[in-house]
Amino acid sequence: MKTIGLIGGMSWESTVSYYKIINETIKESLGGLHSAKILLYSVDFEEIEKCQAQGDWQKSGEILTEIAIKLEKAGADFIAICTNTMHKVADMVQEKINIPIIHIATATADEIINNNIKKIALLGTKYTMTQDFYKQKLIDRNIEVIVPNDEDIEIINNIIYNELCLGVIDKKSKEEYIKIINKLYEKGAEGVILGCTEIGLLIEDKDINIPVFDTAYIHAKKLANLSI
Ligand code: GLU
Repeated sequence: MKTIGLIGGMSWESTVSYYKIINETIKESLGGLHSAKILLYSVDFEEIEKCQAQGDWQKSGEILTEIAIKLEKAGADFIAICTNTMHKVADMVQEKINIPIIHIATATADEIINNNIKKIALLGTKYTMTQDFYKQKLIDRNIEVIVPNDEDIEIINNIIYNELCLGVIDKKSKEEYIKIINKLYEKGAEGVILGCTEIGLLIEDKDINIPVFDTAYIHAKKLANLSI
């Protein structure tokens, strides 16, 4: 079995999901008392979020690079950055290590293609929804990406940082998300990407009438399958 290197803590609420999904997948596949070989480096998210807010991607990239090097030295066979947003610096980190980073957007794009979906709604942090680093991975695979309007981007983003990353699950916020997803459905979205690893804590498949692509689930599942 290969060793999975996780860069987590962004936020730790979703790293818990990764840990659980990876181990459940290994258990399902191998049975018995099998569990995943994981090296987890969990950051102090306050430091990372400050860099994001200041637009200092260079500094946050350096922090994650240092961690990735440590995980490689400790014996990880591959690395996962357990957040969509911080894939903004994935290429920068990859340049400095000799083991692969398993990209969350690529894993998600594979699932979307397997489901024959051509036009997808993307929810995530404002960075993920408005910048190209993430969307481009989907566009390159001929998937059309639509995002909420500016006002809805703010609502989605605020709920992520002020509630979900703090473990707050609010019924009203869930309704807001569903309303926004329905607007994107009316604009032709055939599915929706939960492109922030905490959104799966709020929204489930059964809440939405189009296919839901939960990036934390897809990414974690892929890591587990790659390890066996
Ligand atoms: N976990 C979130 C994501 O998947 C947001 C936290 C972060 O900014 O990294 O994008």
